[in-house]
Amino acid sequence: MKMIRYDHIVQLTFFPRLFPVNCFLVEEQDDLTLVDAALPFSAKAIVQAAERIGKSIRRIALTHAHDDHVGALDRLKQMLPEAEVAISARDARLLAGDVTLDPGEPPTPIRGGVPKAVRTRPDRLLADGERIGSLRAVAAPGHTPGLLAFLDERSGALLAGDAFQTRGGIAVSGQRKVLFPFPAWATWHAETALASARRLQELRPSLLAVGHGMPLQRPAAAIDRAIREAEAALERRSGR
Ligand SMILES: [Zn+2]
Repeated sequence: MKMIRYDHIVQLTFFPRLFPVNCFLVEEQDDLTLVDAALPFSAKAIVQAAERIGKSIRRIALTHAHDDHVGALDRLKQMLPEAEVAISARDARLLAGDVTLDPGEPPTPIRGGVPKAVRTRPDRLLADGERIGSLRAVAAPGHTPGLLAFLDERSGALLAGDAFQTRGGIAVSGQRKVLFPFPAWATWHAETALASARRLQELRPSLLAVGHGMPLQRPAAAIDRAIREAEAALERRSGR
């Protein structure tokens, strides 16, 4: 496990060389907010990382309910029974293993590793604009129907989950990068993901941190490029 700090945010990376999976400890005045819960074996390392910082994890905010973002959730909830678990209402259904679509959603199947045996249920359902610790939830659907990004309002750092990837080159969710195609394969609806990417770009983040790959500082130009690539790819696909 690799640990790198950016201001208030500590990125924890599992399998940094092969298949990097990130989760984040966000440092608050008195405690920590964990964003995402990595892989099943990650729980102990996450708690040890918090101990190294010297604060305890009081909140677990999930960007979305895919296996590699909620893997250690049950174990963490056992180790940290006081921690409040939060996710969007939409992805809470996915967390419970329910892959049915809501009326009005694009009729494409939800993809990726949807958890089959997670027992933890959220303590709090987060809606767009709500706050958890120093983070503001920003709805960014597309990769999953209920994906939330989290903006640290102190620094402008954006924890975007899989709305973007940076491994294998920056990409909007749904756009396949040859060197790391997995997030694209796991994406529900690329057009929706592109609309969300535009919305996240308007936040003008100071740092873009994602589920897979290294964070980008001053990411505006890279995000612009990723959006242009996604626009071009979707236009080609629709034959316009
Ligand atoms: Zn995902």
